[in-house]
Amino acid sequence: MPIAIVVHGGAGKTPAGPLEAFQEGCKEAVRLGWRILEDGGSALDTVEAAVRALEDNPIYNAGTGASLTANGNIELDAGIMEGQTLRVGAVADVELIKHPISLARKVMESPHVLLVGKGAQEFAQEQGIALCKFEDLLTEQRHKQWKEKQAEVASKQEPRFHRYEVNPSPRSEEKHGTVGAVALDTAGILAAATSTGGTFNKYLGRVGDSPLVGCGFYADENAAVSCTGEGEDFIRLLIAKRAADFVGNGAHAREAAEKTIAVLGAKAHGTGGLILLDRQGNIGIAWNSQYMVHAYITSNQEMQEPTTGI
Ligand code: ASP
Repeated sequence: MPIAIVVHGGAGKTPAGPLEAFQEGCKEAVRLGWRILEDGGSALDTVEAAVRALEDNPIYNAGTGASLTANGNIELDAGIMEGQTLRVGAVADVELIKHPISLARKVMESPHVLLVGKGAQEFAQEQGIALCKFEDLLTEQRHKQWKEKQAEVASKQEPRFHRYEVNPSPRSEEKHGTVGAVALDTAGILAAATSTGGTFNKYLGRVGDSPLVGCGFYADENAAVSCTGEGEDFIRLLIAKRAADFVGNGAHAREAAEKTIAVLGAKAHGTGGLILLDRQGNIGIAWNSQYMVHAYITSNQEMQEPTTGI
């Protein structure tokens, strides 16, 4: 049985730091996940562990280092899914959680599918997940980025339309850094996970595709998919489910990823990308933004070390 793992560290125009550091973080997450798969661990454990590692890495826009909302808050989104049973769990707009992906997994193991805001936070505490401090999630760089934005907003003369000045359009080219992983385990089961702080300077309460099943992540018996990009367009086009369906209808993993991104380009203006794995361990990676940081190992190619790309 083939095993494989693919991770991404976000897509966009300008990364919020040197691309090599983004690639290295993805490689580390892949190595961690690969060890779990080689030891016979589940795809679900693998994607959770890989995404937790990326959430802990402050250069990515997820967990520690997540970008700020227009009113200076950190509101996190994450989703996880297992392909064989279609078990799925997600959290949106949750605060003070170090590892939103693990909270999403707890939701998956409960009768719920998606919990948001205060309810998600209360559920975390019920599950024994301690709340962290705001400062534990905040990095100096993200704070600086936010302060610069506020100064820019304050210097503008135009009247405001909203209480909070948000990015004029979700299609802005602000720095990204959402993280995600897909894996195939020795039992032939696929899983997918995505975690993000959402778009920089987002309106409070705004939710993108990342915690929405079928939009920012999806897994079934044919494919596992994790997405990154301008979430509003990924939502309207159900990008993750669309990609899995291409595989279900016979497309090769690579073709499925490319066809889905072609639909994104043809039907919307948003940019971004996705990683995809099928049950044979074939990998599909496609994006129409300037870059999408990613790394993978698959037993199909007898690799010793992760391959990275941007
Ligand atoms: N898809 C994420 C969102 O819209 C952002 C990203 O992937 O960069 O919240």
